Amino acid sequence: MVDALATTIALMSDPIVGIDLGTTHSLVAICDETGPRVLADAEGRTLLPSVVRFLVGQAPVVGHEARAHAVEFPLDTIASSKRFMGRSHAESLRIAEGFGGRLAEGPRGIAAFEAGGRTVTPQEVAALVLAKLKATAEAALGHPVRRAVITVPAYFDDGQRQATRDAARLAGLLAERIVNEPTAAALAYGLNRARKPETIAVYDFGGGTFDISILRIEPDETHAASDLFQVLATNGDTRLGGDDLDLLVMQWLLTQAAAQFGPLTPSPGVLQALRTFAERAKIALSDRDAAPIEIDLGAGRALRCTLSRAELVAMARPLIDRTLEKFRAALTDAGNPTLDRVVMVGGSTRMPAVREAVAALTGLDPYTALDPDQVVALGAAVQAHILMGGRRDLLLDVIPLSLGLETRGGAVAKLIVKNASIPTRATETFTTAVDNQTGIVLHVLQGEREMVADCRSIGRFELKGLPPMPAGIPQLEVEFAVDANGVLTVSAAERRSGKRASLQVVPSHGLTAAEVDRLEREAFAHARQDMHLHRVVDLAVNARLDLKWIGEALARTREALEPTYMEELEASMTRLKGFCEAAERDPAATDADAFHKAKDALDQLSMRLHETSIARSLKSMTPPKGSPRT
Ligand code: AMP
Repeated sequence: MVDALATTIALMSDPIVGIDLGTTHSLVAICDETGPRVLADAEGRTLLPSVVRFLVGQAPVVGHEARAHAVEFPLDTIASSKRFMGRSHAESLRIAEGFGGRLAEGPRGIAAFEAGGRTVTPQEVAALVLAKLKATAEAALGHPVRRAVITVPAYFDDGQRQATRDAARLAGLLAERIVNEPTAAALAYGLNRARKPETIAVYDFGGGTFDISILRIEPDETHAASDLFQVLATNGDTRLGGDDLDLLVMQWLLTQAAAQFGPLTPSPGVLQALRTFAERAKIALSDRDAAPIEIDLGAGRALRCTLSRAELVAMARPLIDRTLEKFRAALTDAGNPTLDRVVMVGGSTRMPAVREAVAALTGLDPYTALDPDQVVALGAAVQAHILMGGRRDLLLDVIPLSLGLETRGGAVAKLIVKNASIPTRATETFTTAVDNQTGIVLHVLQGEREMVADCRSIGRFELKGLPPMPAGIPQLEVEFAVDANGVLTVSAAERRSGKRASLQVVPSHGLTAAEVDRLEREAFAHARQDMHLHRVVDLAVNARLDLKWIGEALARTREALEPTYMEELEASMTRLKGFCEAAERDPAATDADAFHKAKDALDQLSMRLHETSIARSLKSMTPPKGSPRT
């Protein structure tokens, strides 16, 4: 009872929301004693498209409107940007197939886009989506929201997790916990299931990523709110999703178009339209056997064709097979347990061919009772509820990829191996290879391969100022600590000299702390400037309307007004007109408060005119004596 009360109070004053920051859609949810629920915007919509439009001189447009007009602004609309989070520009070029926007090189070679005449990082795009969800949650809950649990694909590496945390900070949110999407789904599933020990697989096939996790759920017989969720193994691919199938359907459409009209070089707008139609046809084929398609290709050419479910399944087969391969690998890593359930998550699991393939692999009927669009956000909200003290479930997640250090000859020494439960830490002692070495660079890597070239570089830092010693004498103790978010901290100390290293790992493909600070300041400054512009533009529109009706009323009632009042009124109108003209010329330089005051002053002063004008109209409407009654 005390717990329930404490959570309710926390929820009221400083709630933690759960956010599913998805490739195609994002959602925000909250959990209280009655359970988790997704929050809707003012129009009652819960799914926010993860799409942002940037136009020169305009504030970014996020969500439904950006997606609805993506065909008109194909290059300045950024969609499906999650796959570029925490990656380098070079990597982004390799995984850009089907991406509709323009890639650019961000600071220190990180992935970025060129949109609206500037360079935008994936972190900034994600921050705008998060800020919109924050505003939705604040409006729905009636309280400021500062803290969130945010989900990421289980297979996100350290750099991608850091990038997600940076995006949250840019949006004015503290990422209290980064949770793996399939683990969040398991938490949501856990609320609905029979109370017995179970081994489950969460098969999460979304728009951009595929994740598979094997979990053990142990209910606590004495306390319903403290079950154990232990992830046994996880596997996946951060570049495998429904978007890839859309791309194959797009290519099929282009082949059809070429057969009818000869080879064509589609404009970005036509490509965007093809992508939209490809996805629509794919979705339609989850319920039907054939999808007729009609697309205007411009220049009087209309492409008409029909895609059958069998053709779509043939295109999807290699992608589905890749998911099954990962599924098998995860089962092997987990020690080949007998599965009690397979929980289906992510929009792509709505495809019957996917469900059939999973059923054939596991011999189980896939569990589809939870809405695949909502289940991750609901689970994130459950985790938020745990952090607020509302439930006591214990969540033991795992690290998806091994972590290690570069050693001589370009090999990798693994300190923490994949699927180790987090939080975890490991230490190892290294030494120098050269006499009198006074500094050592530690290169941190993540991946399963043995050589540096085949792993992902997470970052480097240097232990400086070592006393000169012969090679092999220094004893460098390196500690890797992975917190409950799956985020790594590295520390190093030389045992003989006691020298310790500066510990921040500068992410290889992320933003530095200074860059996040700067972007945060800029976002804040822009937000203020945007609000100012909005206010001034609204004032100018309303003031113009006021001036119009006051001018008309004045023309009608001029002879009934006292000359001093007339003078006062005209002076006030001239003053407001001056503000309107200034606002229309340069809204940024217009003093909004003074403008507001001038408008209020005229509003007040014009009351008398209004009354006189109404009195005159009533008089003119009074029927002359003797006229027939109606
Ligand atoms: P998510 O990342 O979970 O939001 O999943 C989005 C992906 O699911 C996109 O690629 C969608 O095209 C796909 N999707 C949504 N609904 C369906 C459906 N009924 N059939 C097939 N794919 C779908």
